[in-house]
Amino acid sequence: MEIKFYGVRGSCPTPITREEYQSKLIEILDESKKIILEEGIDCSSKEIFNRLPDHLKQNIGGNTTCLYVKSRSGQHYIFDMGTGIRVLGNDLAPLAFGGDPLNLNIFMTHTHWDHIQGWPFFKPAYSPKTNIKFYSCIKNLQERLERQQIEENFPITLGMMPSKKEFQLMTEHEEISVGDLKITPFFLKHPGSCTGYKISEGSRSFIFATDVEFRPEELDYLNAWKDRLGEAELLIIDAQYSSEEADKKIGWGHTSVQMAVEVADRIGVSKVALTHFEPDHTDRDVLKIVDSEIGLGEHRVEVVLAKEGLSFTLD
Ligand SMILES: [Zn+2]
Ligand SMILES: [Zn+2]
Repeated sequence: MEIKFYGVRGSCPTPITREEYQSKLIEILDESKKIILEEGIDCSSKEIFNRLPDHLKQNIGGNTTCLYVKSRSGQHYIFDMGTGIRVLGNDLAPLAFGGDPLNLNIFMTHTHWDHIQGWPFFKPAYSPKTNIKFYSCIKNLQERLERQQIEENFPITLGMMPSKKEFQLMTEHEEISVGDLKITPFFLKHPGSCTGYKISEGSRSFIFATDVEFRPEELDYLNAWKDRLGEAELLIIDAQYSSEEADKKIGWGHTSVQMAVEVADRIGVSKVALTHFEPDHTDRDVLKIVDSEIGLGEHRVEVVLAKEGLSFTLD
């Protein structure tokens, strides 16, 4: 399966500010000058770009949570409908408005704004050839989505969107097969609750645990978590805060970078992708926090920052 990030910001969509854009641009110009001095004036722009440090080649992205998974045979799975789903919808629109029906499976972790806000802007939902099946542990998911689109909030109601929609309730720890994938929901500590998912295709598995608060004093609980969920190779997890911020925001429902890496180590995955970044942190802040936090302890796991457009293949 292929796993692709369409939204990695937490809480609120975060377009780049003028100040952040300008400071990035100055850094790029400084780096480019150095490269031209070394390579000569005939050096092409593409060559200069290729030699820039990674953090200047790509931004983290300002869209809120949306993860897309495509199975080996090409079936579509979406986890959460933050503003990133608008961009995913643009990518899927040619299929939605082509000749054949488009079948989509959408799994919801919870319905905080940053996880549903992109849905009214998801173009495939406006095609009568799109069949959408929603899965969640939320009894009244349909009603919650309808409420987002009452006419004071948005001109088109959920019922007016021409796609066909079905809602299936899941039970915690009960694995279900949906096409090529097997998916198991489990609850996470977060205000109002949140559902994590273990997702498997054949022998390859990953865990999606956005919006969760892990505290150092609660780590023993992870042994039970691991026993129940079994093996996985990748963990995608909330890493909204620095440790200092997490200590000041107990009960807010999010995890520090250091704790996210510790959790990954304890459950034995080989790779952890950090996500749900704090909207008040610039890209530079996020990189700085991740750098200093992963240096705080020893860990075996490979740490990756989720960025819009980043993808992993588990085949
Ligand atoms: Zn969130
Ligand atoms: Zn939340």
